[in-house]
Amino acid sequence: MASHKNRHILSTLLLAFIILFLVMHVFFIPSQLFSDATSTILLDDHHELLGARIAKDEQWRFPETDTLNQRFVTCLINYEDKRFYSHLGIDPISIARAMKKNIASNGIKEGGSTLTMQLARMARGNQPRTLKNKLIEAMWAIDIEATYSKDEILRMYISHAPFGGNIVGVDAATWRYFYRDLSRLSWAECATLSVLPNAPALIHLGKNRVRLKEKRDQLLTTLYKNGILNKEELELSVNEPLPDVPYKIPNEAPHLIDYLSKKQKGKVIQTHINSRLQHQLQKLANNYCQIYTRSNYIENIAILVLDVETGEPLAYIGNTTNPESEAIQVDMIQAERSPGSTLKPFLYAAMLTSGEITPKQLISDTPLSINGFSPSNFNKSYNGSVHADEAIIQSLNVPLVRMLSMHTTARFMTDLKWLGLTTLHYDEDHYGASIILGGAEVTLWDLCHMYHKLAHQLSHNEEPKDSRISLPAIWYTFDAMSRLNRPEEEAQWSQFKSMKNVAWKTGTSWGNRDAWSVGLTSKYVVGVWVGNATGEGRAGMTGVGFAAPVMFDVFSMLEDSKWFSPVTKGMELMNICKQSGHIASNLCNDVETVMTLSAAKQTSTCPYCRYVHLTQDEKWQVNADCVPTSEIKTVSRFVLPAAQEYYYQMKHANYSPLPPFKEGCSGTSIDQVDFIYPEHGTTLIIPRGFNGTLEKVVFKAVSRKPNTPLYWHLDNCYVGETHDEHQLSLQPDTGTHTISIVDNEGNRKAIIFKVK
Ligand SMILES: [Zn+2]
Repeated sequence: MASHKNRHILSTLLLAFIILFLVMHVFFIPSQLFSDATSTILLDDHHELLGARIAKDEQWRFPETDTLNQRFVTCLINYEDKRFYSHLGIDPISIARAMKKNIASNGIKEGGSTLTMQLARMARGNQPRTLKNKLIEAMWAIDIEATYSKDEILRMYISHAPFGGNIVGVDAATWRYFYRDLSRLSWAECATLSVLPNAPALIHLGKNRVRLKEKRDQLLTTLYKNGILNKEELELSVNEPLPDVPYKIPNEAPHLIDYLSKKQKGKVIQTHINSRLQHQLQKLANNYCQIYTRSNYIENIAILVLDVETGEPLAYIGNTTNPESEAIQVDMIQAERSPGSTLKPFLYAAMLTSGEITPKQLISDTPLSINGFSPSNFNKSYNGSVHADEAIIQSLNVPLVRMLSMHTTARFMTDLKWLGLTTLHYDEDHYGASIILGGAEVTLWDLCHMYHKLAHQLSHNEEPKDSRISLPAIWYTFDAMSRLNRPEEEAQWSQFKSMKNVAWKTGTSWGNRDAWSVGLTSKYVVGVWVGNATGEGRAGMTGVGFAAPVMFDVFSMLEDSKWFSPVTKGMELMNICKQSGHIASNLCNDVETVMTLSAAKQTSTCPYCRYVHLTQDEKWQVNADCVPTSEIKTVSRFVLPAAQEYYYQMKHANYSPLPPFKEGCSGTSIDQVDFIYPEHGTTLIIPRGFNGTLEKVVFKAVSRKPNTPLYWHLDNCYVGETHDEHQLSLQPDTGTHTISIVDNEGNRKAIIFKVK
């Protein structure tokens, strides 16, 4: 009977305990023990620490790691909680021993707390060590043990233990005290860190160093006694010095961590950064910046290296770290700036893809005005006509604007967005034709990723379904970019002659505010920006003079890589007119059969090679009606339109213009007279002068026959006569007008233009 009653009391007590435990579990112990802010951690390609940012609460608290360092755990357990792996949260043996000691000394000398109880104490915000708190911590400890594995408990403890000052968790502590990863610490160093959580005040207070060393050496001796260290290891370990003044946490790639932590604050961020390259390039950037600052007051520089395979940055130099430079905290890889000419190759690639041009098709390079916008080439001259690839290499503005008006700004914007340009904030009307000359801002980040997209596609020989740029088009674009002949803007190109197999393009923004150079191989994309973060321009600062040297130095530090394999898909044999670059007609004399893009089939055949009738001695051009057939020699000739020819023959000595028409025997097959400026259909935007009248416009025309007067009519009213230089200043009113020129022989040309 009595035993039955006892059993009843026992089971009631057990039930009460279980209920109490459940209530504790549900109402008092949080499901997540810690919710503190953590530091943002940046790791390199070998999982090494590149840099970190302090947590929101100004603590160096690294996020919990999922690995446990066995050496440190051994030290910790031997020091704090020998029976950690066998107890269930509380350790009756050490409690009993602690009580005995405390009673003997009449006060609290020893806590008898397990690691789990200490974890509970940390999770409860380190409340005072009273008996009541101890009991609560014991209850929590039992609950924690029931909820988490031993390894999870260790991980939480290690990540949240205090290590003196604002250092929380062993990962932050190892970097602050030893400037190394936990995995590289010695036994003595692990032992030092193991004694700290229970006595964080011992570190770096001069008077406590002896006490700290005592505690460390006691632990090392315990390890020796437990057979973990041998005699020699113990002797070496106790002779190791204690850590000195804390180190600063590494701060490589400072701009990258700031950029990435916008989205991944408080996280461990694994990158592909190669820390050796990062370090070298930061030094390179700093050196160049120092030189540029001294010589030209250029304060800032940025370098980005992308891996073609992954698209991930291998080095990210957001700015110089020279303290004497201004605004070094600004990340110039993410700054939106005018790209100068660096987008031009994308237009070439897009037009090759859609079959609007052939790779070497002639593009007109004569004065141009589009809605009041009159682009000029860097050297202020015109070539009359240039091959499209040459226009890209030489970065000619006028032919590129003509190409853009064929392709349209709207389509080019879609191309750029597909390539990855994220900073087109306005619509096509806002940008107009200027988009090809640097009118839309880009970041170095986007620019490098856009070139990467093409390089990746070509290196994999794979064309995604949604691709707006074909593989052969990329091949031709990179091929043009890898050639060494460069324009005057890039006159110093010869210094880079040794660089083979790099496709590259430079850019200089309006007012010399930005100098760019972007280059690529089958392995790397390298982008360099030089300028002032404040936006101030510097006379003489060009992409080729200031950014390209840095870029080629970067390539010299990178592994050599093979050029891309030639593309075969989407290519076929075609007859191309060597003079015009167009698909040859049967009138072309100089024809080569080459592999070219299949898309080129959609382009027009050569419009320049045509039959002309000459006298037998080729001195005169004649009309078939006015000379006996026997006196006529009919030949095919490459003939440019008059306006193009005017400039073309100045630059091409071997170009022979057609002879003039024989007196009284003129023909109409070819324009004898033509307008150079403006072109037919142009809208001129003419500013008003002080008195409110429109300013004068200089009209320009050309005649194939030298020393022939031209007679000008504006809206059928005679307005003047010109001789050698066919230029006439006129003051047309707003509205639509017709202007015409006519020579002595009745050769006439009329165009329509608008004035706004
Ligand atoms: Zn031809």
